[in-house]
Amino acid sequence: MKCTFLGTGTSMGVPVAGGFGSEKIKPDPRNQRYRCSVWVETPEASIIIDTSPEFRLQTIRSNIKKIDLVLITHEHMDHIGGLDDLRIYNYVQKSPIPLLSSEEAIKSIRSRFEYMFGENKYPGSTSVEMEVIDSKITFRDVTIEPLAYNHGAIEIQGYRINDFSYLTDVKSIPDSTKEKVAGSDVMVLSGLRWAPEHPTHLTIPEAVEIANELNIKQTYLVHMNSYVDHQETNDKLPPHVRLAYDQLEITI
Ligand SMILES: [Zn+2]
Ligand SMILES: [Zn+2]
Repeated sequence: MKCTFLGTGTSMGVPVAGGFGSEKIKPDPRNQRYRCSVWVETPEASIIIDTSPEFRLQTIRSNIKKIDLVLITHEHMDHIGGLDDLRIYNYVQKSPIPLLSSEEAIKSIRSRFEYMFGENKYPGSTSVEMEVIDSKITFRDVTIEPLAYNHGAIEIQGYRINDFSYLTDVKSIPDSTKEKVAGSDVMVLSGLRWAPEHPTHLTIPEAVEIANELNIKQTYLVHMNSYVDHQETNDKLPPHVRLAYDQLEITI
């Protein structure tokens, strides 16, 4: 199974629109971060977790020619802003694309992208078949298990795909979900910044604490802001926790 990080930046991306503050970002390509999406490929399935606002650019950059399934963590626009870009896959694949998420996120997507659904569907707009996933399923050659956790004011869900657990926009993780993540080869967690604490996101030290607690072989952090320098941060992190960066590919 191959996982490609399509984007690893926080909600405004790095740098932010307008390039404000970008003079402080060191010129390392790993400090340029699109919003968070990830691509999981197996012999039988091409799965996307979250469609970020840069989704069109991400699919071109990573040469994604087929999408069999979309999993959505939650309805914040930095995770669903690219849903419209699935349109071309509908045309090429000549079919709607299945999309799995929580009941709350699906409800919100329906209202935010009202033109894609129901009687008012705009002709030619993206066709996704949305269904709630609330327990472990098998999809082609993988198992997919939803992982519920807290993102400040809302409950959202990440996904364990075989031994890859992806949890972004995390504030806290209940024990019942930690049990589901345990034993994964790779875990992805969000780590917004070093400090101060944030009401809806883990800081990097808080994410490291969870990685240590769960004793996962390798943890990657995503959803970093402009002030997190890739190299400086990796130099400070323990070896089993690394920052992910856009277009990083890992094989599990
Ligand atoms: Zn986010
Ligand atoms: Zn969010």
